[in-house]
Amino acid sequence: MTDMVYEQRDNEKEERLVRNLMDWYYQNQRDLIWRKTREPYRIWISEIMAQQTRITAVLPYYERFMKTFPTLKSLAEASEDEVLKSWEGLGYYSRARNLLKTAQIIQVDHQGDFPQGSAVLKKLPGIGEYTAGAIASICFDEKVPAVDGNVQRVFARIYENRMDISIPQSKKLLTEFVREVMPERETGIFNQALMELGALICIPKIPNCESCPVQGLCEAYKKGTQAELPVKAPKKAAKQESKTILLITNGAGEVLLRQRTEKLLGGLWEFYMIEEDLTEEEVLVYLEKIGISLEKITYIGAATHIFTHKQWNMKGYECKVKDGKGIDGFSFYAKEQIENLALPTALQFFRNWLSEESQIGFSV
Ligand code: SF4
Repeated sequence: MTDMVYEQRDNEKEERLVRNLMDWYYQNQRDLIWRKTREPYRIWISEIMAQQTRITAVLPYYERFMKTFPTLKSLAEASEDEVLKSWEGLGYYSRARNLLKTAQIIQVDHQGDFPQGSAVLKKLPGIGEYTAGAIASICFDEKVPAVDGNVQRVFARIYENRMDISIPQSKKLLTEFVREVMPERETGIFNQALMELGALICIPKIPNCESCPVQGLCEAYKKGTQAELPVKAPKKAAKQESKTILLITNGAGEVLLRQRTEKLLGGLWEFYMIEEDLTEEEVLVYLEKIGISLEKITYIGAATHIFTHKQWNMKGYECKVKDGKGIDGFSFYAKEQIENLALPTALQFFRNWLSEESQIGFSV
């Protein structure tokens, strides 16, 4: 196969591909709550939530978010804290911050009317080529592709295309090809049918070719090369980072927290964190140096969290301070207050510990 394969046109094959795919979708699509609407606000939220997340995992978050922010206006008027709290658990928090920014822009610059064209949508924070295509085709029937990893996989197999899908140029070529192949009408249905095929039938490892509506058109199926496709260069290994998480508590049982200002997890709340793997003794020495004396230290346990490019390897301690002294930039919060703060999933293990609160520990 050559890189140019998407340029070889076959009208009959393309027509059958479109017809089979759309017929199949009408009969087999999943009954998802956002498929009952073409309201752009709802489609936008569902598309942003579904990025990097399984649809089944998204459903409860989607319902909760819609209950909290039923309209674009209600989202535009929310605080960042409220939006992050509603997003808590979904990860990739920049998506939530961008939702808020975009809602505010639409409210102010577009008088609350969702922009209709994909070209305008693409300029809004957090809306890339794929999301703009999905919203514009589903809600406004624009003839514009929405190429995500599912669509790349499906086409790589049908056309036995061996371009590395992690290279932007291969996505660009495919997008242009899909634009040529897609029908003039019901473009949103076509885009969703492709995504659905990739999500349900043409799945990554072992595709369910026996139930596939485009099996007769699939080169990879004919040659038995499905498992080799799509071609994707291996990812670089995630960078390993060690952290010591300190749940610093005072006599009233309150815990020290601060709101992050870093790009990663910005706006979320965190416990005191040291960028090293420290033993109990080393924690005591560290805290003494910054003027904090402890009454008791308790080992909580270890947890890991994998981000896209890095992995946090964390160890946690509860540190009860002697005199209730805090640390600059941090404040003490009661457990009930912490319930209402958005903490990253990465710290879930330590937050859970806090609500269960172990009594084991030793005095120092
Ligand atoms: S026949 Fe198999 S490999 Fe080809 S598109 Fe269908 S599910 Fe994917």
